[in-house]
Amino acid sequence: MEDAKFHSALAKAFESALSYLSGLDRAPVAVSVDLATLRSRLGKVLEDSSRPAEEVINELVKDVDGSILGSTSGRFFGWVIGGSLPSALAADWLTATWDQNAALYSCGAAAAVAEEVAAGWLKEILGLPARASYAFVTGTQMSHFTCLAAARHALLNRCGWDVEKKGLYGAPPIRVLVSEQRHGSIDRAIRFLGLGQSQIVALPTDAMGRIISSALEEALRSEPFSPTIVALQAGDICTGAFDEFEKLIPLAKQHGAWVHIDGAFGLWAGASAKYRELVRGVNQADSWTTDGHKWLNVPFDCGYAFVVDAVAHLESMLHRAVYLTHDGQARDQIDWNPEWSRRARGFPTYAALRELGRHGVAELIERCCEHSEMLVTRLAQLPDVEVLSVPVLNQALVRFLDSRPNALNADHDRRTDDVIAAVVASGEAFFTGTTWHGRRAMRLSLCNWRTSEADIERTVNAFANVLGDPRVHLADGAPTVKYSKIDS
Ligand SMILES: *Cc1c(COP(=O)(O)O)cnc(C)c1O
Repeated sequence: MEDAKFHSALAKAFESALSYLSGLDRAPVAVSVDLATLRSRLGKVLEDSSRPAEEVINELVKDVDGSILGSTSGRFFGWVIGGSLPSALAADWLTATWDQNAALYSCGAAAAVAEEVAAGWLKEILGLPARASYAFVTGTQMSHFTCLAAARHALLNRCGWDVEKKGLYGAPPIRVLVSEQRHGSIDRAIRFLGLGQSQIVALPTDAMGRIISSALEEALRSEPFSPTIVALQAGDICTGAFDEFEKLIPLAKQHGAWVHIDGAFGLWAGASAKYRELVRGVNQADSWTTDGHKWLNVPFDCGYAFVVDAVAHLESMLHRAVYLTHDGQARDQIDWNPEWSRRARGFPTYAALRELGRHGVAELIERCCEHSEMLVTRLAQLPDVEVLSVPVLNQALVRFLDSRPNALNADHDRRTDDVIAAVVASGEAFFTGTTWHGRRAMRLSLCNWRTSEADIERTVNAFANVLGDPRVHLADGAPTVKYSKIDS
């Protein structure tokens, strides 16, 4: 009876998962259902009585139809979002099925060991020190939190301050030197850790978004005795640019700073002989963050934290309670992670790395970068397209110009937003915009294993159609047109 219930619900899930995945090439990438419809479809009255599991799944699938963003499609280039490799997705299903609480070895033995093994592989592939401690967290946001909790411990410990015991009341302030182009998750981690947003010093960057080394040097010299965190970037979310680790890390270390690397996607350059140059010297840092759910293409809820000073990491997270059981030999994740109960999120990473192998990871990284370059090159051949930043890795910025002779920057800005909106509305591909040095631009991010040359071709055609469509051309003084569907 119980088996039959599982069978019918899981069979339905399996069938709709396969039909979703095989329909990705035909379905619009963007969501086609509006908020009100979605609320009315899902907003059912919570009934007193029960329902068969299969029926619940059936209705869920029906109710969300048209409202699942095609972010796992090969023609999704928005934000920085990867897809899911087949083995990673399958392992994720099993993770839910096994339903382990991966807090302790005694609570999920295989989960603990899978993380241990996968962490070793990750360090090897990314070129990080083998001795670094690690944590599998929800994403880069919590990875920053974990790494910087260790930084907070280590820096204050050097001042004779026990932060875990005394908190920050009366503690020496910690300065955080970061790029003005940093990802906002750094700021949030600083907030969560109680260090205070006003301790953040935003350093100027060059045209590509890299920290200017003389600015870092000056900031370090200005307060030689302040405990300091320097957070550098491996991969700017707009340009994909990398800070000059070989120069900046030794400089920061000379001044006693803790160097943390935001490598949410860019750290993966280290997996490829072709792109490894970009991360030269990055292994000299104190802590690193990267995501599995972006470029490794495992399902969401997967980031990794690595810390050289394992003692500082452990001291900042360690948890003991009388009712817990610890195996002296095994690693208990609770001692290294900010969560208590947690998903056994190591399995999908373990599976993805085994599916790809070392060469497969390198090939995935290189293919995405090549496709990114191909896409930018092809777009640049279309009329009135300006490339603001060519891919150094997988990210790029493109702008669409208003072709009228007296067009101003504001017109180009509007044109750029219009073209993005029209391509998204066509359902053929998905992009997001940004403002880069005061100008609107389309961001292009490519980190999905599925993206093929045919996807690039289709995407370029979608732009060609939009750019050739008179409805997208602004008449003098005319309001911006809203597009429902551009026929191709
Ligand atoms: C995505 C991203 C983050 C945030 O990562 P999450 O996994 O979403 O928490 C931080 N920094 C960079 C550079 C990113 O691309």
